[in-house]
Amino acid sequence: MGQKLAVGIDLGGTNLECGMVTSEGAVLHRATRPACADRGPGSVLDDMATLVEMVIREVGASPDDVVGVGIGAPGPLSHRDGVIYKAANLPGWVNVRVPRGIIRRVGLPATLENDANAAAYGEFWAGAGRDVKSLVAFTLGTGVGAGAIIEGELLHGHFENALELGHTIVDPGGRPCSCGQRGCLEQYCSAACLGRQAEQAIVDGAESVLRDQIKPGESLGSRPVMEAAQAGDPLAVRIWEDACRFLAVGCINVQHTFNPERIVLGGGMSRAGDFLLEKVRYHVESQKWNLHNDVPDVVIGQLDNNAGVIGAAGCALRCYTEGAW
Ligand SMILES: [Zn+2]
Repeated sequence: MGQKLAVGIDLGGTNLECGMVTSEGAVLHRATRPACADRGPGSVLDDMATLVEMVIREVGASPDDVVGVGIGAPGPLSHRDGVIYKAANLPGWVNVRVPRGIIRRVGLPATLENDANAAAYGEFWAGAGRDVKSLVAFTLGTGVGAGAIIEGELLHGHFENALELGHTIVDPGGRPCSCGQRGCLEQYCSAACLGRQAEQAIVDGAESVLRDQIKPGESLGSRPVMEAAQAGDPLAVRIWEDACRFLAVGCINVQHTFNPERIVLGGGMSRAGDFLLEKVRYHVESQKWNLHNDVPDVVIGQLDNNAGVIGAAGCALRCYTEGAW
């Protein structure tokens, strides 16, 4: 085949996503299977190895073409030491050396990256940030993750836990967060919180078309709230508007902290497209400072749910080209 390739893996609490990615950031083949995280790390690592071998076989790549494997995973973790310290949505995962487990199983070098960092790197390398040197990308999913590439370098921080923007406090003493703090950004603009707010408001007696969509034992999620907001349901409109206002606060804080050229919105909620973007831009505009015109351009990501896989593979290709392996 000749062209250098890398395998990207996105290890989520629900699914394992795996893709063979070219040095241009194109996905040649993709494979998915349930993460089955409750079976423990060894079994999940076996599944990851199976997926890696599967995508190599499917694209007909020779072992010489594949430079390595990049893994995006929930943290806290150490990219430097290749270890997941603990992952809230992967029960029993404590101090798991994921790259070492992959190297042993498939014989390819592997690198570990925080999943939101990997997604940000994907957008930077092959998506909505291809033409800039500095960007911050939000992943708006069950929680709110983020990653920053500043002057071409992925930012890790001294404790390798930088860009936990979902846990920046935007409302002191506000809503409790599972992290132990109060008033975290992700309690105001994540997919999970949108559904939860709607459910609570309806329990408290609010009228909404969402009432009929609530099922016992199932969380509502952001999609029905977004659709109801687009249809003009007053409760959903209020919740959506509020989420966009808080996300705009997050964007302004990013502007002042990192001063990137662009902010990319990715993850499930970003599929709302202009309905999200226009409102976030409006709330950035109405809350921004007037001292200097350095507000980053806010855009929707281009890689959708491939961002994590592409970015993880991109990190592997970068390790290879920089001689880190
Ligand atoms: Zn928090």
